[in-house]
Amino acid sequence: MGKRQFAVIGLGRFGTSVALTLAEMGFEVMGIDRNEELVENVKDYITYAVCADVHEEKVLESLGIRNFDVVIVAIGDDLQASILITLILKEMGIEHVVVKAVNDIHGKVLEKVGADKVVFPERDMGMRLAHYLARANILDFIEISEEYSLIEAKVPAKMVDKTLREIDLRSKYGVSVLAIKRGHQVIVSPPADQRLSASDVLILVGGNRELDRFSRM
Ligand code: ADP
Repeated sequence: MGKRQFAVIGLGRFGTSVALTLAEMGFEVMGIDRNEELVENVKDYITYAVCADVHEEKVLESLGIRNFDVVIVAIGDDLQASILITLILKEMGIEHVVVKAVNDIHGKVLEKVGADKVVFPERDMGMRLAHYLARANILDFIEISEEYSLIEAKVPAKMVDKTLREIDLRSKYGVSVLAIKRGHQVIVSPPADQRLSASDVLILVGGNRELDRFSRM
């Protein structure tokens, strides 16, 4: 199987970041924007950088968009363009279309027109930052679903020098320890007799309510 190929439509801050990161990882990436300057900015770093307005099927067709496994629509401000382009891509039979939404209604419409994945980068980053700021011992936060999340947290003072068996997070707090970060080392699926130290970082998964209770400790 060959390497997957990605096309990014819209080279604003989000699209550019996606395109450059994929290119750095060694993937073939085509970046498209109607703004020449934005195309210039990335052209030395990605496989193809094209200046075009792609609101019509024939333009997308002429760019060979059908050859790409994943197309990312990274247009924020122009909702009409974002929805229309998503619809055209799905009608053309592109297997995997990922679209950036700016709000819930935009997201709902994108799902209706067939987007395979809708992402909300501003909302998600805002949530992560709020969780980080609100709870002194939460270092990072990733929403897995509406009910479940994954967090990185400091070890609460009363758990320092205790083993996982002693603190029994799963039955007492309803959260599971996936891993422990200790300096540069990561202890994945730590054993029950693993003792925690004050500088450890816990990677926990659980229900939002349970994680919230844990983080108030
Ligand atoms: P961000 O918030 O990530 O910076 P923007 O909404 O500012 O995102 O950027 C979207 C980009 O998409 C802009 O650079 C704009 O020129 C481009 N764009 C919007 N509509 C089209 C279109 N029909 N064809 C090509 N590029 C488009």
